[in-house]
Amino acid sequence: MVPFLDLKRQYHELKGEIDAAVLGVLESCQFILGPEVTAFEEEFASYCQAPYAIGCNSGTSALHLALLAAGIGAGDEVITVPFTFVATAGAIRYTGARPVFVDIDPATFNMDPAQIEAAITPRTKAIIPVHLFGQCADMGPILEVAHRHRLMVIEDAAQAHGAEYQGRRAGSIGDLGCFSFYPGKNLGAYGEGGIVTTANPEYAQRIRMLRDWGAERRYHYVLQGYNYRLDSVQAAVLRVKLRYLERWTEARRANARRYAELLGGAVELPEEALGNRHVYAVFAIQAQNRDAMQKALAADGIGTAVYYPVPIHLSQAHRDLGYGPGSFPHSEHASQRELSLPVFPELTDAEVEEVAARIRAFAGKDVN
Ligand SMILES: *Cc1c(COP(=O)(O)O)cnc(C)c1O
Repeated sequence: MVPFLDLKRQYHELKGEIDAAVLGVLESCQFILGPEVTAFEEEFASYCQAPYAIGCNSGTSALHLALLAAGIGAGDEVITVPFTFVATAGAIRYTGARPVFVDIDPATFNMDPAQIEAAITPRTKAIIPVHLFGQCADMGPILEVAHRHRLMVIEDAAQAHGAEYQGRRAGSIGDLGCFSFYPGKNLGAYGEGGIVTTANPEYAQRIRMLRDWGAERRYHYVLQGYNYRLDSVQAAVLRVKLRYLERWTEARRANARRYAELLGGAVELPEEALGNRHVYAVFAIQAQNRDAMQKALAADGIGTAVYYPVPIHLSQAHRDLGYGPGSFPHSEHASQRELSLPVFPELTDAEVEEVAARIRAFAGKDVN
């Protein structure tokens, strides 16, 4: 039996430290924002090589806050990809703006920069590249086209804590960066959490107000804000876990390298683009007979997942955007062929070998 993800292993390794951190918050009775949140914001900003980081209560809120700080609202258009978690487009819709999709590069699953220009209209205000599965989008050409058209760039780095593009950390490349601390992410809280990074002090200040009802100080509201505050228990847990993140990321990368050695030639493997540091939030292989492979692996006790079976432009909730089948062929193709293998840091060598052996057996059977 190899689970797709086992959060208990990590908790048991760090139980002493985590329990002490949580109990410290309970003793303090400072539950919302406060010193643990401020300390975590400083530590996470430094980890991302970004001057400011503002904690909030989910990755979705982080995206919403970043869009609001950038001044995006009804009547505006924001360019992103349909092959991502629904929150990327959902947060755009929260503001009243319209998501305008461009297709992905099938080699990396990330935004194809060559398609952006044709999607720009006089209403376009921003681009949200998603660093999908833990690998940065091709930010050089994305920033170039954004600069030429005076568009904001908001990184959806919800899966990309510690990922790098040409030596620059995710969250420090665009105007704003958005991260999620959902428990299954590379840096996961014990509840909901998110953060926005930026180098712009005005955006940082706006976001700090918007996450707490738009208050400049208590009961003095200057913006129409939200209750998007980060709680102290999450910040305390995240502070402990952040100290291990580099070690865990290297373990994920080692698992990915081992899969590549064991599976080369048997299945289509994920590619790490030149100059990127992929942090393997997801280890995404592709197979023509993905559903049969997933079923066979499940029968062998091996957990896998599919990210994502329906691209956003084909989901019922977002049909009103007016796209249809065939609008984004690479996204649609990826959604039919993607299969995520276990890659979490605590996975043992024997487990990686077991998963690879079962896949090789299935792939071998299948070609005959
Ligand atoms: C997880 C995720 C989000 C949303 O984060 P939540 O914390 O679940 O709100 C946004 N975008 C991407 C790409 C994600 O993977």
